Amino acid sequence: MWVPDYQSRIIRRMSQDVIVVTGAGGFIGGHLVAALRQQGRAVRAVDIKPLPEWHQRHPGVENVVADLRGLDACHAAVRGAHTVFQLAADMGGMGFIEHHRALCMLSVLINTHMLIASRDAGVGRFFYASSACVYNAEKQQSPQVIALREEDAYPAMPEDGYGWEKLFSERMCRHFTEDFGLSTRVARYHNVYGPHGTWEGGREKAPAAICRKVIRAVLTGRHEIEIWGDGSQTRSFMYIDDCVHGTLALTGSEVSEPLNIGSSELVTINELVGIVEEIAGVTLKRHYRLDAPRGVNGRNSDNTLIRRRLGWEPTTRLRDGMERTYAWIHDEYVRIHGAGRRTVTPRRMAV
Ligand code: NAD
Repeated sequence: MWVPDYQSRIIRRMSQDVIVVTGAGGFIGGHLVAALRQQGRAVRAVDIKPLPEWHQRHPGVENVVADLRGLDACHAAVRGAHTVFQLAADMGGMGFIEHHRALCMLSVLINTHMLIASRDAGVGRFFYASSACVYNAEKQQSPQVIALREEDAYPAMPEDGYGWEKLFSERMCRHFTEDFGLSTRVARYHNVYGPHGTWEGGREKAPAAICRKVIRAVLTGRHEIEIWGDGSQTRSFMYIDDCVHGTLALTGSEVSEPLNIGSSELVTINELVGIVEEIAGVTLKRHYRLDAPRGVNGRNSDNTLIRRRLGWEPTTRLRDGMERTYAWIHDEYVRIHGAGRRTVTPRRMAV
C-alpha cells in the first residue's frame, strides 16, 4: 500500500510514543495499523474479537483483545499513548444497521469510555471515526443528490440508530475539547471498500456484497444477481488507501471540526453492479428486492472543505479500487467455499 510520509509536529511526536488503534481487528483499523507500522511507529492494536478472527495482524504490534465498552479496559488500552485512533464500533452495512439499531447505539459506551480514558491519560490527540450517516435524511431523498457539505448535519435528522450514535459521539468529542482540552479530530467516512473487509456474514457493505454475488454467479454458472432496492439509489465509495491517507492527514492537521473523508465519484447501485460484471466478464440477470434495506436515495461527499484545509481529496477511481477488491474477495471465496463448477480469472486483474 502507498503510505504518505507526514512531517507534521503531531506525527513526529507520534514516533516517540505508543499509538493506539481501536477496532484494529476490523477492516479500516487493520489497514491503519499496517500504514503506521510502515512508518515505524509503535502501535498497540485493540479489538474485542479473538485474535484468529482479526482481518489482519501485523508483526511488531502489541495486539490486545479487550471489550472497550468498559472504562477499565479503555484505561488499560490508552496507557502511555500519545495518539488514539478510535475506530471500534458495532457496525455493518445497511442490512445490519437497519436491523440492529440498539446494538449500534451501544457503541456510545465505547466512545464515552475511550474519551474519558484518553482525557485521564493525557492523550495528545484523539481521532474519531464518524460517518456520512450523520447527515440529515431530508437532504438525501433524491438520487440526483447535491453533495453533502459538513454543515448539512444540522438541523439533525441522521440515520436512525447508527447515525444518531455517531452524531452524539462527534458532539462529545467537541465538548471534551472545549471543556477538558482533549485535542480531537473527527472524520465523516463515506462508504469505504477494499481488500481485507467483511464480504459475507451479514455485516458486509454494498461493494463487497456485489463482488461476492457476482463471484458466486460466475463460479456456479447461475448467471443471476439479487439487488437490494431498485438499483437507482446513488452513492460514492472510497478506496481503503484513500481512507487511511485521509485519516493520517486529518489527525496530523489543525482541523478540529468534523471533515468529510469520501470519494465524490457518484454512481448508482446499478452502475456499481455493471462495473463488477465488467471486471468479472459476465452479464447477469438482475432481480430487484424492493423490500430489502436500501438506505437513503442518494448520498455524495462534498470535498470543498477537505481540499481547502488539507489540500487533498480521495482520488482512487472506483473501477480501479473495485478490481483490487474483486480480486481479493475472489481468492477468499475460493479459499473458503471452493471453486465450484469452474474457476474464472477476472479480466484485467490489477493486483
Ligand atoms: P469493522 O466492523 O470492520 O471494524 C470495527 C471493529 O470494532 C471490529 O473489528 C469489532 O470487532 C470492533 N469492536 C466492536 N465492538 C468492540 C468493543 N466493544 N471493544 C473493542 N472492539 C470492538 O468496521 P470498519 O469498516 O473497519 O469501520 C471502522 C470505523 O469506521 C467504525 O467506527 C465505523 O463506524 C466507521 N465507519 C466505517 C465506514 C465504512 O464504510 N467501513 C463508513 C463510515 C464510518
